[in-house]
Amino acid sequence: MRKKEQKSGEEPIPKELFDILACPLCKADLEYTNDGKGLVCSGCGEKYPINDGIPVLMPKK
Ligand SMILES: [Zn+2]
Repeated sequence: MRKKEQKSGEEPIPKELFDILACPLCKADLEYTNDGKGLVCSGCGEKYPINDGIPVLMPKK
């Protein structure tokens, strides 16, 4: 039986990219939001959306 590769949970961003992501405001690491559809800063709590697998790191003014 062939086993299908499965990713754990929703991870729309490639790991290589996710590893280098940092909050543009405070440079802290980013984490996925609870619903996995966005990113949240572990430092300041700023949230960022993910559009088509590309994180949009534009802080709201
Ligand atoms: Zn931050």
